[in-house]
Amino acid sequence: MRLGLFGGTFNPIHYGHLRAAEEVAEILQLQRLLFIPAARPPHKHLEAVTPFAARLAMTRLAVADHPLFEVSDIENQRPDRSYSIETLRLFRREYGAAAQIFFILGLDAMLEIDTWREYRELFTLCHFFVLDRPGYESQELEAIMRRKVDERCEYLAGDGVFRHPSGNLIYFRPITRLDISSTHIRSLAGQGLSLRYLLPEKVRRYILKEKLYR
Ligand code: ATP
Ligand code: MG
Repeated sequence: MRLGLFGGTFNPIHYGHLRAAEEVAEILQLQRLLFIPAARPPHKHLEAVTPFAARLAMTRLAVADHPLFEVSDIENQRPDRSYSIETLRLFRREYGAAAQIFFILGLDAMLEIDTWREYRELFTLCHFFVLDRPGYESQELEAIMRRKVDERCEYLAGDGVFRHPSGNLIYFRPITRLDISSTHIRSLAGQGLSLRYLLPEKVRRYILKEKLYR
């Protein structure tokens, strides 16, 4: 089994997430890719985050027609904040040691990985794919891997991959960089401006119907 796990706030999900997921699924030849909206994101003020149910609904609308993409509400099944380490441990237990699990996250998130709970441990549980993202410096990635994660991480230049001492790989391969963020989409919606072509049409209609971000 080759399984991708893509965590995020998804407030709302947009084409930056979706196109990246599509390309990662092809590069890694994934058999299944789960979008995992954070119920209670540790890094965000809870009052400010749109209710989980709405973010889950939009994420489901966005991937409904895709053969490999699915949505998991696993982070809403725990009462505590949504720590990726807990989620990864659950999937590892469920799928077993032989499963090839890839955790997908953006470069901006990776650059502050040392603020995540038990972040060194994360890299012993599964492979990673870091999504390049406009506005963030990939130069710093090597320093992060060596200085913060583990000094024994090796960079395999030709392959666009770091190897963690556990044997797990951290991919950083070129993908289409789309300068789209949920923050910008929420700001546009707040000003009553168009959201067309930044996210799936079904998600745009949901936002208007539910009067989100106004
Ligand atoms: P916000 O502006 O509210 O933080 P966001 O657009 O960053 O929203 P998140 O839900 O925070 O979206 O992102 C989930 C994951 O997807 C993160 O790991 C983030 O780095 C990554 N990501 C989001 N947008 C992009 C993008 N345009 N390109 C590459 N990665 C992205
Ligand atoms: Mg973000």
